[in-house]
Amino acid sequence: MNYKRSSALFAEAEIVIPGGVNSPVRAFKAVGGTPIFVKEAKGAYLYDEDDNRLIDYINSWGPMILGHAYQPVVDAVVDKAKKGTSFGMPTEIETKIAQLAVSMVPNIDKIRFVNSGTEACMSAVRLARGFTGKDKIIKFAGCYHGHSDSFLIQAGSGAVTFGSPNSPGVTAGTAKDTLLARYNDIDNVTQLIEANTNQIACIIIEPVAGNMGCIPPKKNFLKALRNLCDKHNILLIFDEVMTGFRLAKGGAQDLFNINADIVCFGKVIGGGLPVGAFAARNEIMNHLAPLGPVYQAGTLSGNPLAMAAGLAMLNELNNDAEIFNRLAEKTAYLHEGITQVLNDNNVTHTINRMGSMISVHFDEAEVVDFETAAKGNNETFKTFFHGLLNEGIYIAPSAFETWFITDALTYDDLDFTIEAIGRVAKTL
Ligand SMILES: *Cc1c(COP(=O)(O)O)cnc(C)c1O
Repeated sequence: MNYKRSSALFAEAEIVIPGGVNSPVRAFKAVGGTPIFVKEAKGAYLYDEDDNRLIDYINSWGPMILGHAYQPVVDAVVDKAKKGTSFGMPTEIETKIAQLAVSMVPNIDKIRFVNSGTEACMSAVRLARGFTGKDKIIKFAGCYHGHSDSFLIQAGSGAVTFGSPNSPGVTAGTAKDTLLARYNDIDNVTQLIEANTNQIACIIIEPVAGNMGCIPPKKNFLKALRNLCDKHNILLIFDEVMTGFRLAKGGAQDLFNINADIVCFGKVIGGGLPVGAFAARNEIMNHLAPLGPVYQAGTLSGNPLAMAAGLAMLNELNNDAEIFNRLAEKTAYLHEGITQVLNDNNVTHTINRMGSMISVHFDEAEVVDFETAAKGNNETFKTFFHGLLNEGIYIAPSAFETWFITDALTYDDLDFTIEAIGRVAKTL
């Protein structure tokens, strides 16, 4: 395939935008080469500036669960746009989407809308601290909760009790309040809690990790976390920015039948526009300004365009009783097909899957945490990525990302993908 125009556009972009991109993972740093510039997209396909057609397995990193330019969402946005795009005053549609979200998601009474997943997680942690009067938080190595300071803490052997900043610009003072735990390791979490008695406000977790590839929680891991939180008066925050409205109508809480205290949303809830949200029971949400002392605000929060897209998206998901089964079946079909062609070609691999999230790791070890996920970040992945791109298939340009299955994918698309992977496998 020819990427001449994309390459030229990237060269221009690099002059005026750092790295040529407005979010780092869009650059092909982990895999080499230059990013592809999209012209338009429809359903399961991207069309780039060189007029290549690509089958999309990223889908804007999750939001486009029903495919690109999904008509009811597009119509809702266009209609709203004609009536003004932002007022900084309350609108009825904010209540409508809030009512729908509260009816779909277990254990939440109130929801506050923001503009990104980052904002949602950052605000959820502030609320947890304000509510409990405690400062420290526990996060898991390899989980991503957006780019606010408290979360940019990397795993490291010395970081058991006190975190250390991994991004310049994060102060040591902030880092020391973030404690790092190993995903799927309840003993590790217990030790951290016991070493920091009465200091931990919350544990924040991706209930199915999706930012180190896809890593499902081990059986009873989330339940054990819930019990630990109850025992020690710690709030449990499910970061469902990726899993919310994707794994089930009520997200991971619904799927695993476990209640979190605060839930964060993003991605699907905005239908492709910039939306995040956090939600909880009344007793917690009532601590938020203007009802309570914990401050949080936003000029464009709940703006009509974003709310129209989100409401149209949630309505579609709420009214389709089969959508989540259908997505899971397509993903299982893809899983089986990929396993077959990789095995036929003796390619060492592990595939993780949960609902419509799937990732292929090029290592034989079971992938259960950041350490095991890191083993698949290798040369094989790079060859695989570029091989698929050449076949007209777009997966994330990093081994640490999940593939997102959209309902717009047909079984023909999946068969085409499996056959292409078979051809690429011969080069691995
Ligand atoms: C994408 C993501 C975020 C950050 O959301 P942004 O909208 O990119 O700020 C937070 N948490 C999880 C689990 C995510 O996948």
